[in-house]
Amino acid sequence: MSSDGKSKAPISVRAKNAALAEENRRAFAEKGLLVLNLIGSPGCGKTSLLERTAERFKARMAVIEGDVKTTLDAQRIDKAGARAVQIETGGACHLDALQVQRAAGELDLDGVDVLFIENVGNLVCPSGLDLGEDAKVAVISTPEGDEKPAKYPALFVRAGVVIINKVDLLPHLEYSLERATGDCRKLNSAVSVLPLSCKTGEGLEAWLDFIERGVAGKKTRKAQ
Ligand code: MG
Ligand code: ZN
Repeated sequence: MSSDGKSKAPISVRAKNAALAEENRRAFAEKGLLVLNLIGSPGCGKTSLLERTAERFKARMAVIEGDVKTTLDAQRIDKAGARAVQIETGGACHLDALQVQRAAGELDLDGVDVLFIENVGNLVCPSGLDLGEDAKVAVISTPEGDEKPAKYPALFVRAGVVIINKVDLLPHLEYSLERATGDCRKLNSAVSVLPLSCKTGEGLEAWLDFIERGVAGKKTRKAQ
């Protein structure tokens, strides 16, 4: 830490990450690939959402899975019919742009329209790191409580869309969708908030349509 209170090393690490993220973004754009970075707590349903998404997109989607340990989530995606590569961070609580660049290089992206990055389960630091994605997807779930957008604003300010998963549990919980949605909009007036249930399938259409629109937009831009 220098005398002005700013640490020099983290600044250069961040700058390096930002440069790599831009490289990733250019490479993904050349392929006409939509890239979505899923961020949410452990257990909020990020992998379940991707399994549901694979029912529609199958070989049109690929996933970079980030976890501290195990290849369990990549196995789930593979079983659901989409390609996946697993990053085991070995302790790190977020993914960085270099890890994503390497993992993307391991994936066969032929015929893939949308690449998902499932970040390490964590509501805090993944939101501050650019990986070269088109949009961040914030995933929260009803058992976590409706105050999460207010408590963790950094993610919701940056998110292109917010998923509120596990709405099938609402009858058993003190959870106000109005409060959660209202807090998201206070932070980010343009954000889409999509309540859904990966278990029952309720609300999934809106999510799948959001992806289809993003894919179509990418293809149009690539053709120009
Ligand atoms: Mg997962
Ligand atoms: Zn972290």
